[in-house]
Amino acid sequence: MRIGCHVSVAKGYAAAVRDAHDLGADGLQYFTKNPRGFRGQKALNREDAERGRSLMEQWDVVSIGHAPYLINLASPDDELFRLSVEALTQDLVIGQARGSFGVVVHCGKPKTMGLEYGIRRMQDGIRQVLSRAVKDDIWLLLENTAGQGSEIGYTVEQLLAIAQPFSAQQVGFCLDTQHAFAAGIWDPNDPAGISALSQPSFRDRLYAVHFNDSKVPFGARKDRHQLIGRGTMGEAMLKAVLTDPRLADIPFFLETPVDRQPQYADEIQRCRQLLSSGTDPAP
Ligand SMILES: [Zn+2]
Repeated sequence: MRIGCHVSVAKGYAAAVRDAHDLGADGLQYFTKNPRGFRGQKALNREDAERGRSLMEQWDVVSIGHAPYLINLASPDDELFRLSVEALTQDLVIGQARGSFGVVVHCGKPKTMGLEYGIRRMQDGIRQVLSRAVKDDIWLLLENTAGQGSEIGYTVEQLLAIAQPFSAQQVGFCLDTQHAFAAGIWDPNDPAGISALSQPSFRDRLYAVHFNDSKVPFGARKDRHQLIGRGTMGEAMLKAVLTDPRLADIPFFLETPVDRQPQYADEIQRCRQLLSSGTDPAP
């Protein structure tokens, strides 16, 4: 079972891989560029990317990139849409150079234009990105949202509708546990967990999990992550996900709100404890 975490690439990619490994992670996620901007990213350092790749191989570590939050592939604003396509294209190039298996992007916000428009706009954007970026060995991973404001992609049906025209070799999903809980698609009282995991069309495209507890209650439609076992989802529910055999081969990445990066060592430790603590006896 792979458990990774989000790490800073401020000191370069190879340093980020080393940091992840030192934290006890066998996966890392990094921001492809400043998460709040489109511009100002340093030019891709190919040598550093190459060094990072060989460390990943040496330590058996995998990675994914995370696109900036400003990207909005469903935006009715033509300029923002164009910048989003451009930025995401670059992100795939960066991810490929670093040997990442995917780049995660949040589903878009169509503002007042509605779901149907948002789905079509996102498909148009994805089509443009895929036609520009070399994409043979990297997935574009659509992340489910918490359904804040006009965000689409908060239900499995919406994710499937967006991805439908594309091959599962190019477009997949990253499932964020907190977003699913906050969006109300993951009923804490359902012992089957996220029922969508039983749908082959969803599972066939699921390549990564963002593993987070929640600061807000079920169905609150807010994107607020919490440390593992300290939030409203709680340990029992999180343990059920960690030990779900349908997810056993899928890398998990923590994005929990640690004060400092070294604290991820404790978070990873907590996950490994939950994994190995066995099934609780019935009360
Ligand atoms: Zn996430």
